[in-house]
Amino acid sequence: MGTTTLIFKMPPDYSGQMLQQAIAQKLGIRHFSWQLEASSLDARNKRNIHWRLQLKVVSDEIAGTEAAAEESLVIPRSLRKAGILVVGSGPAGFFCAYALQKAGFSTTLIERGSEVIKRKRSVNSFERNGLFDPCNNYAFGEGGAGTFSDGKLTSRSKHISLERSFILSKYIEAGAPPEISHMAHPHLGTDKLVKIVGNLRQHYLEAGGKILFDTLLKDIVVKKGRVVEAVTTAGHLTADAFFLAPGHSAFETYRMLMRRGVAFRTKGFAIGSRMEHPQEVINLAQWGRPSLPGVKAAEYRLSSPANGKNRVYSFCMCPGGTVVPATAYAHTNIVNGMSYYNRGGRFANAACVAGIHPAELAGRDVGPAEALDLLEDLERAFYELAGGYAAPVCSIRDFTQALLRKTTFETSYPLGVVPAPLWEMLPPPVVSAMKAGLIEFARKMKGFDTGNLLGLESKTSSPVQVVREPSGRCAGFDNLYIVGEGSGYAGGIVSSAADGLRAALSFAGA
Ligand SMILES: Cc1cc2nc3c(=O)[nH]c(=O)nc-3n(C[C@H](O)[C@H](O)[C@H](O)COP(=O)(O)OP(=O)(O)OC[C@H]3O[C@@H](n4cnc5c(N)ncnc54)[C@H](O)[C@@H]3O)c2cc1C
Repeated sequence: MGTTTLIFKMPPDYSGQMLQQAIAQKLGIRHFSWQLEASSLDARNKRNIHWRLQLKVVSDEIAGTEAAAEESLVIPRSLRKAGILVVGSGPAGFFCAYALQKAGFSTTLIERGSEVIKRKRSVNSFERNGLFDPCNNYAFGEGGAGTFSDGKLTSRSKHISLERSFILSKYIEAGAPPEISHMAHPHLGTDKLVKIVGNLRQHYLEAGGKILFDTLLKDIVVKKGRVVEAVTTAGHLTADAFFLAPGHSAFETYRMLMRRGVAFRTKGFAIGSRMEHPQEVINLAQWGRPSLPGVKAAEYRLSSPANGKNRVYSFCMCPGGTVVPATAYAHTNIVNGMSYYNRGGRFANAACVAGIHPAELAGRDVGPAEALDLLEDLERAFYELAGGYAAPVCSIRDFTQALLRKTTFETSYPLGVVPAPLWEMLPPPVVSAMKAGLIEFARKMKGFDTGNLLGLESKTSSPVQVVREPSGRCAGFDNLYIVGEGSGYAGGIVSSAADGLRAALSFAGA
């Protein structure tokens, strides 16, 4: 039995049978199995758009030895007495609790929101009639912030390949399409994510884990550098170690932790608005045609040095998606994006954000608590200006020319839009960088300037970062860990999950 690796170019709408034939022809063999190791769409030449595939072929008819087994992440299991409390059921909290439970600890996971199906009802009701549920929304509830999202599983974090493979394998066991293990830009879509989150929970419960939904961590009791109790809406909970994964929207949790002596510092983050175009405009720009059989919808990733100080870039693109009201708290107004697995919607959206530091926003040095206040003030100002959860909107052209001309908009946003001079609402350094960036994007992509900008996108990353040791433990605390996006060391589904997983494995002595 031998193995070989092949690189193939295949047309966008190739089938498994076509690939089978291509392998047989190329290697001159009849009996073999194959596995896709990598696939990406190459659309650089619009006349020759193709998939670039990397395959491992195994066959008796190939000379040589079988390839060595790939390294994989192992959770060391043993009998352990310690009880652990994990807060937050997003990717970081879930994978942290799951790994600790598998390692033999007795874990309890608490989540301020409800289980995902109930959460979904609240999200639907918010979008239908504007009734906001503070515990179950786009930010809070089982599965965390990315549950109602495009479910992109790409990550800019380096050195997490073992964790990534582990996380993707658990998603596949929970019902994700196996393609996520080899696609260059894998994504799940909201429809699949909702089911996967429910199945992952089942796997955690089967491993002996406990979950308390509708349970908010309100406070921690600290004695001599140790957390001795968590004060929750379900009562006081004790544990030997506390892993918090509250995400970066849980401002009141951050503030409580700061009051209890957990050290944070400010860090650079990014804010801006969401861009929206008809998907056909993006398909034409990227493929030179309105659709491409075999591929769902065209994507883009743009970046510009802009004014030289605040880099501007597109973020979290949702092809065939919807712009959504992603606020975590009542009377604040922010937007984000999501899509379904088929990415079949009429519009494409992506954030257009400028990197900025809280000190630049304030025009002076600010502490971590003040950085949160600044951001919250901006989110409230957008709510007040829009008179609710409608999204302030203007065209990209009007934004770059600082002149509000366009007044009617076609959009996927479910709660209505209000024409508004976004360049007067966003902080000046962000506006100046975004103008330069958008002008450059329009030069790079045909039709780009016909799109619109919606609302405030303020949750691409956290403006604060906890001071912690490499293990994830908070500096100055014996048994308190903050992981995931809320720690300020991760961003996105995979890197947050990897951060939670790493902290768990380090605690388990792996
Ligand atoms: C609409 C949207 C679309 C997104 N799309 C993508 C995407 O396509 N790909 C991608 O990689 N990333 C995406 N993201 C970002 C991604 O969701 C986050 O980076 C990721 O979820 C962070 O994981 P986390 O576990 O650290 O925190 P979160 O996912 O934010 O989870 C935190 C959890 O803690 C709970 N919680 C908070 N405070 C408390 C408390 N005091 N007590 C109890 N529970 C608490 C919350 O309810 C929540 O469930 C998206 C985010 C949003 C909002």
